[in-house]
Amino acid sequence: MVTTVLPAVRAPRAEPPFLPHPASDPAPELAEARIDLAAIAANTRWFRDRAEGAALMAVVKADGFGHGAALVAQASLDAGAAWLGVARLREGLALRAAGVAAPVLGWLLEPAWLRDSVDRRIDVSASSVEDLDRIAACGAARRAEVHLKLDTGMHRAGATLAEWPAVVAHAARLERRGRLHVRAIWSHLSHGDVPGDPQTGLQAATLATGVEIARSIGLRPEVTHLANSGGVIQAGAAGCSMVRVGAGLYGIDVLPVGPGGSRLRPAMRVTARVVGLRSVGAGEGIGYGHATITRRATRLALVPMGYADGLPRVAGPHAWMRVGEVPAPVVGRISMDQVILDVGDRPVRVGDPVTVLGDGADGAPTAADWARWSGTIPHEILTGIGGRVIRRTTGGTR
Ligand SMILES: *Cc1c(COP(=O)(O)O)cnc(C)c1O
Repeated sequence: MVTTVLPAVRAPRAEPPFLPHPASDPAPELAEARIDLAAIAANTRWFRDRAEGAALMAVVKADGFGHGAALVAQASLDAGAAWLGVARLREGLALRAAGVAAPVLGWLLEPAWLRDSVDRRIDVSASSVEDLDRIAACGAARRAEVHLKLDTGMHRAGATLAEWPAVVAHAARLERRGRLHVRAIWSHLSHGDVPGDPQTGLQAATLATGVEIARSIGLRPEVTHLANSGGVIQAGAAGCSMVRVGAGLYGIDVLPVGPGGSRLRPAMRVTARVVGLRSVGAGEGIGYGHATITRRATRLALVPMGYADGLPRVAGPHAWMRVGEVPAPVVGRISMDQVILDVGDRPVRVGDPVTVLGDGADGAPTAADWARWSGTIPHEILTGIGGRVIRRTTGGTR
């Protein structure tokens, strides 16, 4: 039995991810991400409709996939989400500090924040006897609400089926002693985004077995949850009473979309302004290492975003942005804070808007395009958009 009581810690204050736009100054920001709360709400409803009556947990980890956790949480709760999911407990405490009262689960046991999290009604996840002991001994004033995690095949976290009987028996003992309460049993899919993969059904069956074992030992979990965005699209609630939706809320298509296109609405649009223009002759080298040599005389536009703002440096040779109504290729290397576009002989002026990333409807590149150019997934592009890019919201209902 672990007897160490963690020292009391102060909850982190809510840190706004950006300074508000100065109300007195109508000048545009150099780079901004417009977060469409109506899109978040519509996507929430879309998944709820497919969750077969199960409750929806809006996954707002990593600052709501870069969109702003508290903003997304509120929009999603208003549209029918019942729970919020985060990875770090500290992220859950930040939601509480922002005034969010809804149930929250944090699935990475963060020792320094465990006691405060339990005191602030943040549910925690346990994968082992050691996790359970640590939770029971955290010194909180309240009984911890625990989601017991079974490893059904992802092999990232959770007790294996072999360990499971000992873990649930230990949980039942601690529950009888009033130290904690097992509110849920859960697992995570490894192939939710792989159409028709048999792994999804196998994992659902293994979780059902785990729930039966827990019940036979006397646990009475009120909630079970397995499916993520792809899981819901393929298998609804997968036999559970709750689903955990992340990517889809933000409009990321985790599965190939049909001929009608996506039914989800991308919620982030990143724009910048041209801050400089120059003319160069043919045969000039551009940027660091002269990675591009001009073939003809042309004009170059400077855009104040770079890899520190989340535009992957490796995307440089493939990337383009939309300036006014027209695409313009990135030339030279993407640098930390700036990028250069070839705008040819078009009448571009300083201050003109540049669409860096949009919903695809207006011909600007999407997060999926940036992901393809960089050998990654849209999730990594969206979570990578940095703190210097000012977040502003649209489509809010309150
Ligand atoms: C990120 C995450 C989710 C959300 O998955 P999506 O595929 O983004 O819907 C759900 N559960 C866990 C444990 C996660 O880490």
